[in-house]
Amino acid sequence: MTATLRTHPARLSELNPAAPGADQCRVCARSTPAGIPVCFCCRVVAEQLGLPLVPLVAQVEYRVGDRIHHRLRAYKDDPVLDVRAQCRGHLVDDLSRWMAVCGRLLDQRIGAWSVVTTVPSSCRPGPAPAELLVDGVPALASRHLRLLVRGPGSLAHLGADRTAFTLAPGVDRAGLAGLAVLVFDDTTTTGAAAQSAAATLRLAGAQVVGALAIGRALTPDRPLHAVGT
Ligand SMILES: [Zn+2]
Repeated sequence: MTATLRTHPARLSELNPAAPGADQCRVCARSTPAGIPVCFCCRVVAEQLGLPLVPLVAQVEYRVGDRIHHRLRAYKDDPVLDVRAQCRGHLVDDLSRWMAVCGRLLDQRIGAWSVVTTVPSSCRPGPAPAELLVDGVPALASRHLRLLVRGPGSLAHLGADRTAFTLAPGVDRAGLAGLAVLVFDDTTTTGAAAQSAAATLRLAGAQVVGALAIGRALTPDRPLHAVGT
């Protein structure tokens, strides 16, 4: 399926519009049945964390097997170095254009942010692949700080955990109090990982204004919309 190219949306919610006759989740803008303010996934994650959730924005929505899905997998998992680099380059270019077009709308949706930090990788030692994306996008790289590492808790597809992440070595709780943090991840489905990362930072004293993911996996019955692809 070909993504629909949209430029200069009037509202950020237009990037991920609700299906006809449906409402949008107040947290993640996913379609919900008419009259339902929060989607099933966000409700479950909020109950697991015992906290209200932060707004979650997706740059683009994808389906399993499409071009965006391929790029989001290949930039970190393809066995060929050049393929990983090429896919990372495409993702960085798309995200840079998206930030140029939608950065102001993102700020309006979630509020002003001073620092961006990535969700640590669940299965890789060292820097998360998402950090390479952030560092390639000028609007993000200049405010990038590594605040988190994996913690003792475990994550699942629809399983959030306050202890899945912990503060990175050297991160000072006193210093967190003055930050307005944007949490970044490459992909999201239920929001469990991004919201768990946000919870760790909030419980440590930071203000987390929202979460941004490049791609959000769609369920099969949703229409596909995208920006900057
Ligand atoms: Zn939601």
